[in-house]
Amino acid sequence: MRLSQFFLPTLKETPSEAQIVSHRLMLRAGMVRQLTSGIYSWLPLGYRVLKKIEQIVREEQDAVGCNELLMPTIQPAELWQESGRYDDYGLEMLRITDRHDRQMLFGPTNEEAITDIFRKDVRSYKQLPQLLYHIQWKFRDEIRPRFGVMRGREFLMKDAYSFDIDYESSRHAYNKMFLAYCRTFTRLGVKAIPMVADTGPIGGDLSHEFIILADTGESEVFCDQKWLAKDLSGKGVDLNDRTALENWVQGTLVDYAATEEKHDPANSPISGDDLIATRGIEVGHIFHFGTKYSEPMGATVLGPDGKEVPVMMGSYGIGVSRLVGALIEASHDENGIIWPDAVAPYKVGLINLRTGDDECDAACEDAYAKLSNAGIEVLYDDRDIRAGGKFADMDLIGLPWQIVIGPKGLKNGVVELKNRRTGEKTEVTFEAALNQIS
Ligand code: ATP
Ligand code: MG
Ligand code: MG
Ligand code: MG
Repeated sequence: MRLSQFFLPTLKETPSEAQIVSHRLMLRAGMVRQLTSGIYSWLPLGYRVLKKIEQIVREEQDAVGCNELLMPTIQPAELWQESGRYDDYGLEMLRITDRHDRQMLFGPTNEEAITDIFRKDVRSYKQLPQLLYHIQWKFRDEIRPRFGVMRGREFLMKDAYSFDIDYESSRHAYNKMFLAYCRTFTRLGVKAIPMVADTGPIGGDLSHEFIILADTGESEVFCDQKWLAKDLSGKGVDLNDRTALENWVQGTLVDYAATEEKHDPANSPISGDDLIATRGIEVGHIFHFGTKYSEPMGATVLGPDGKEVPVMMGSYGIGVSRLVGALIEASHDENGIIWPDAVAPYKVGLINLRTGDDECDAACEDAYAKLSNAGIEVLYDDRDIRAGGKFADMDLIGLPWQIVIGPKGLKNGVVELKNRRTGEKTEVTFEAALNQIS
C-alpha cells in the first residue's frame, strides 16, 4: 500500500477526550473515529488490526473443533422472556420496537439465541457434544462508555457455546476452550492470565476471566508472581485426551490468580512479595453454567437411557475489539504503538527520505516491488512531506520494521533498517534487510 493512496488521518496533538494511552494512540494513529458515545468507526489501519486479531481467534476456535456460525445482531424479546433475563438485564440492553409493535433488542450476548437454535434441531445425546461460536457485534448500553474501544457500547465479541450430556463432558468442553484461549493470547503476543472469577448467583467453580495486567485496567486483580514467567502456549497438549487435558489445565492453574470478587485478603494462599496486587483488563471470560438456559428454554435431548434431560452448557467470550486497545496498553512507548508481529497492520514501513528525487524514487519503487513480491505486507511512505513527519508517523503506527531509503545511503549502496521494538538501527544492503525481515 502506498501512503499517498491510503486513508491514514494521523494527529500530532493528543486528543483531549482520551484518558488512557491506547485510546490516545488509536485516535492519533488514525485507527478509529467515534461516531457517537461508545460507538466507533474502524478506519483502514485499525480495521486491518481488528481483522488480524479476529482471524487468530477464529483459527484457535477452529483448532479445538468449535464450529463457526453467524447469528443476527437483532433478537426478539420473547426469547429473553423465556430465559427470564429480559427484565434482569436492565438498562444495559438496547430495546427496540419494530413497525408491528414487536419488542426486539440488539443482542448484548447470545445464550438465548444459540439455545433456540440448538433446541429446534438437536434431539439425541448421539448428536452431542456440540461446540459453536460466532464473531459478531454486540451492543451494551454501558453506563460509562470510556477508554475508546475498551469499553464501547457497540463492540466485537467472539462468543462460543458448548452443549453436553453430562458434567464430565461439559468440563471437557470447558478445558478445550481454556486451551484455545491460552493459545490465542500467546499467538497475539500478550500474556493473559486466567483468574478465578465470580460465577454470580448460579455458583459453581468453573469460571475464569483472562486478564492482561495493566494499570489502566478496570478490574482489581491478585495473582502469584509466578504467572509472569509461565508458559501458556499450550504446545503439545492433546485436546482429545480428556485426562491429559484436565491435568494440563489443573497444572496451569496451580498458582493463585483471582479477581477482586474472589479474592479474600484474610484467606489468601499467598502474600508478601509473591502476591501481585494490581489492575487488569478482562479480554476473555469462560463460564460453565449447567442447565441455566436449557431448563427454562426446554433444550433437552434423549439420553442413553431414553429419558429427556436438559443439556449442560457453557459460554466463552473474547473481546475482539477490546483486544486492539488492550494490546496497545501492553505494548507502546512514548513515540507510539509497538505492534506484536502477529497483528501488525503491515510488517514493514518503507520510508522514502526524498520523494521527488529520481534516484530515491526508483530505489524505493524497486524495494516496494521486491517486498511485495516476497509476500511481505508493506506500507510505502511515498508522500511529498518532510522526513521528520514520516519518521514520526511510522513510529506512531508501530509497524515492526522500518526501511529508510535516502540519497546518502544510496551512494554507499545501503538502506537503514530499524526495529521498532528495540529501536536498533543498522545500515545494510536492501537484500540483507529483506532477508532479515522475511
Ligand atoms: P466487563 O466486566 O468489562 O464489563 P463483562 O464481564 O460484562 O465485561 P462478558 O459478558 O464476560 O463481559 O463478555 C465477554 C467479553 O467481551 C469480555 O471479557 C470483554 O473482553 C468483552 N466486553 C464486554 N463488554 C465490553 C465492552 N463494553 N466493550 C468492549 N468489550 C467488551
Ligand atoms: Mg460488563
Ligand atoms: Mg466482567
Ligand atoms: Mg465477564
